[in-house]
Amino acid sequence: MYQPFTEDQLQIRDLVRDFTRREVAPVAHEWDQKNEHPVELVKRMRKELGLNGITIPEEYGGMGLGSIEQCLMIEEMSWGCLGITLCFGYTALGSLPILKGASPEQAKKWLEPVISGDHGISFCLSEPGAGSDVPGMTTKAEKKGDKYILNGTKQWITGGGNADAYTVFAYTDRNRGTRGVSCFYVPRNSPGLTVGKKEDKLGIRASDTRQIIFENVEVPQENLIGKENLGFIYALQTLNASRPFVAAFGVGVCQAALDHAAKYAREREQFGKKISSFQAVQHMLADMSIITETGREITYKAARMADSNDSNLPKFAAIAKAYTSEGAMKCSTDAVQIFGGYGYTKEYPVEKLMRDAKILCIFEGTTQIQKNEIGAYVIRDSASGK
Ligand SMILES: Cc1cc2nc3c(=O)[nH]c(=O)nc-3n(C[C@H](O)[C@H](O)[C@H](O)COP(=O)(O)OP(=O)(O)OC[C@H]3O[C@@H](n4cnc5c(N)ncnc54)[C@H](O)[C@@H]3O)c2cc1C
Repeated sequence: MYQPFTEDQLQIRDLVRDFTRREVAPVAHEWDQKNEHPVELVKRMRKELGLNGITIPEEYGGMGLGSIEQCLMIEEMSWGCLGITLCFGYTALGSLPILKGASPEQAKKWLEPVISGDHGISFCLSEPGAGSDVPGMTTKAEKKGDKYILNGTKQWITGGGNADAYTVFAYTDRNRGTRGVSCFYVPRNSPGLTVGKKEDKLGIRASDTRQIIFENVEVPQENLIGKENLGFIYALQTLNASRPFVAAFGVGVCQAALDHAAKYAREREQFGKKISSFQAVQHMLADMSIITETGREITYKAARMADSNDSNLPKFAAIAKAYTSEGAMKCSTDAVQIFGGYGYTKEYPVEKLMRDAKILCIFEGTTQIQKNEIGAYVIRDSASGK
């Protein structure tokens, strides 16, 4: 169902589009090659766009807007560079367990600094031996008086080297399985917390990914987010809320691949003709356009469901994430094909799009995990006659 955006939503889209095309896209290749988080550029994005607290409620000083606005912002930024978008936005994921579980007092204390743009929070769920298998994690927090003692290692933490604090999931009662997981707000300067070495990745190279190691880290009782043993629920709520955002990353990459490929096809000549006149090339562009437009519709459908607390969000968030991630991979690969040999070099932007796109099929639940979830919902709905 086609639903147009409001004037205010379009203003956000245009603000981010203008900034991204002027300031981010021209330096995306440079930061990818440096393999570094662009500190000054990200500071400028945070100050000049003023959108840090876009989905943080107004009572905590945020803008109180919804997933639609967040998706519009992400889609536009990702058009310019997925890695730099993650440098700007990793705190949105790290803040979600606070939004989902924390008391109003905790949320105010931890989210207010985020709005200024000077405070980053990373989300710490995955571990070296537990990615898809979240309950297989081993990090634990033992209660000792009015503190918890945190031990374990978190893997692949986006923004890990830049963050000022971490939202960390750990077992408080291993015997209760997923009902024994809690979530903690852990400042970076906590004694016993070590930031590991930076990962050398295929794509999203501007984004800083690290291990975070906890050795007898003392976490005060007041840094338990929400209630003890409800952490797994906060983790699921976080992933359901953030999957439309990952889908929006994918739409941005699809659109960028299509725009670059269509422009190149209109310029490149072979056999005395523009390659855009060959039907084989037009069909690749058509497929990219179909994926981009379909992906956009399902992404904003999931975002609308998130904003209206629709109980079918988990299914549609997984569909949006799976479709646009694989779609971004397909569109960026076809864009390289349309550029031919030039597409395979760093002289043109499409090889980076292809390297960047792959992460969308892996993080926040692989495509296979999304399909497991979608399949389970289809069977549930069929059994209940929906
Ligand atoms: C660059 C990057 C950034 C990340 N950022 C963060 C972050 O900020 N915070 C965080 O907590 N995590 C983060 N992650 C972790 C990410 O969510 C995991 O990598 C992901 O969930 C997959 O886990 P894994 O890598 O251990 O793969 P595995 O779980 O070992 O999966 C390996 C393969 O097996 C398949 N597989 C596994 N189980 C099943 C199953 N039941 N059915 C079908 N197939 C299955 C998978 O689909 C995959 O193809 C990040 C990862 C990367 C690479």
